[in-house]
Amino acid sequence: MSGGADLRAAIGDKLVLATHNKGKIAEFDTLLAPLGITVVSAGALGLPEPEETGTTFAANAALKAEAATAATGLPALADDSGLTVDALGGDPGIYSARWAGPDKDFAHAMQRVLDGLAAAGATAPDQRRGAFVACLALSLPSRATTLIEGRCEGVIAGAPRGTGGFGYDPLFVPDDGDGRTFGEMDSAEKHGGPTPLSHRARAVAMFKDRLGVANAT
Ligand code: IMP
Repeated sequence: MSGGADLRAAIGDKLVLATHNKGKIAEFDTLLAPLGITVVSAGALGLPEPEETGTTFAANAALKAEAATAATGLPALADDSGLTVDALGGDPGIYSARWAGPDKDFAHAMQRVLDGLAAAGATAPDQRRGAFVACLALSLPSRATTLIEGRCEGVIAGAPRGTGGFGYDPLFVPDDGDGRTFGEMDSAEKHGGPTPLSHRARAVAMFKDRLGVANAT
């Protein structure tokens, strides 16, 4: 079966990053360069962005990676992420980006989360449970897609706090933190250290583990 070294060998030295998001390209480029893997983005190759028709993070990550592999014959990596809130039946979930609308108005999206919690009467912390989830999909021409999920459990704050990060960060208090929201932390506090808080950093650490690559940072 696919052990770490085996999976690493199957990737070879070139990988398509199935995203048009410049932030994600830079993040994964930094991750993969030390492994001797050259990253080329789907955007740079002029590949169309497939419609995210899946109903789970894993399904959407897989369809993006597999579309890139189908178009290029190359291994491809994609991710899909978002915030799930228990009292909202898992919303915004896979619709996290879409709740902010075309103007990417996250003040509006965060208010929608708060309004939903208020309507549900969810005032106590244990009624305001949620998680950030990041799913990575690695597709290879010759074998089944590998899926990896990183999670960060936490509580939805009563109001946005802090100006750091992006998206829903000012609303999310991670369980393993010190009571501050992600919006009140800097990037190193959110993603760094031997036991990172963030869902994305956790997924990336698991991905490196799967490839048999030591997590140096
Ligand atoms: P994606 O680009 O389809 O994966 O969309 C992810 C969306 O989920 C983003 O636009 C954010 O709204 C939200 N999200 C994912 N990760 C984070 C995070 O670390 N902080 C804040 N919001 C996040």
